[in-house]
Amino acid sequence: MKFPPWTSVSEAACLLKDGEVVAIPTETVYGLAGNAFDPKALAKIFAAKERPTFDPLIVHIADIAQLTDIAKDIPDSAYKLAEAYWPGPMTIILPKKDCIPDLCTSALPSVAVRFPSHPVAQAIIKEAGIPLAAPSANLFKHVSPTTAEHVAAQLADRIAGIVDGGPCSVGVESSIISLTGEKPTVLRPGAITPEMFAKVLGDVAIKESTSKPGQPMLAPGQCDTHYRPQVPLYYGEVPAGYTLPEHTVRIAFGLQAGPIPATVNLSATGDMVEATSKLYAFMHDLDKPDYDLILVDPIPNVGVGMALNDRLKRASIKKL
Ligand code: AMP
Ligand code: MG
Repeated sequence: MKFPPWTSVSEAACLLKDGEVVAIPTETVYGLAGNAFDPKALAKIFAAKERPTFDPLIVHIADIAQLTDIAKDIPDSAYKLAEAYWPGPMTIILPKKDCIPDLCTSALPSVAVRFPSHPVAQAIIKEAGIPLAAPSANLFKHVSPTTAEHVAAQLADRIAGIVDGGPCSVGVESSIISLTGEKPTVLRPGAITPEMFAKVLGDVAIKESTSKPGQPMLAPGQCDTHYRPQVPLYYGEVPAGYTLPEHTVRIAFGLQAGPIPATVNLSATGDMVEATSKLYAFMHDLDKPDYDLILVDPIPNVGVGMALNDRLKRASIKKL
């Protein structure tokens, strides 16, 4: 397919009901959606992304009542979180119902569920009348798309439709919290911070990042090299005496000094939320053969900054 023209909400709903896969906007990143109950549609998602099937998908709903279609033994804590942060950038892991195919959960007994706040995502889910499994709409290990154009650049000839809902307001993947263990555990940092989870649930655990080289994966989807642009990106202190390649660009944060002038700035005022909404767009914009190296300024590893550090550490080459 050639895009634009972009796909309308009702066309997308029809295609999804027919078992096709369609890229849809959400407030986090664009998702590549398919019928969560249909193993053939799920297989098309994995094929289009070249995503290994050991990496499970998040199921998207448009009403808290839909939770019981997908998950079972739902604890009160899930409803408390839902009331506080849904619709929004939060994914909850719960025991799955049998109607969810193994392909969706990589054969795990749990399912990941999210109720997005983007009005276009909600309209598509409601009109299709089915929960939609949707990973980010990019090729496996590439940078997640935050505009319809980013999706078209990576997947246009592989999918049935792309719905344009404008740039994503949050800009990084959802926070993931598991409620299947003894203690609620944050599996992936995002816009809903550990402090925000703790406010609702009391104590929460945070899973150690598995992005240390040479260690086995502790959770599906925690690949060391997720989110990588083609141009080498380096996140960290530039060693003294290191000569930067001629065509180095710098993604700055705030007004800190760097080894070269800022090419773009995530937030001149050091606002983490603004920075989060811009990071992937800058990574896409600077991922051009004209450049040899992308440097990114250090960002404090607190609050939403934890999501940025998590993604940037995975995107970064290990050594200059
Ligand atoms: P995305 O990267 O946006 O495609 O989100 C999918 C991610 O959600 C996966 O890579 C996993 O990290 C996580 N996930 C999905 N389902 C589960 C599950 N049942 N248990 C643990 N993590 C999950
Ligand atoms: Mg992804």
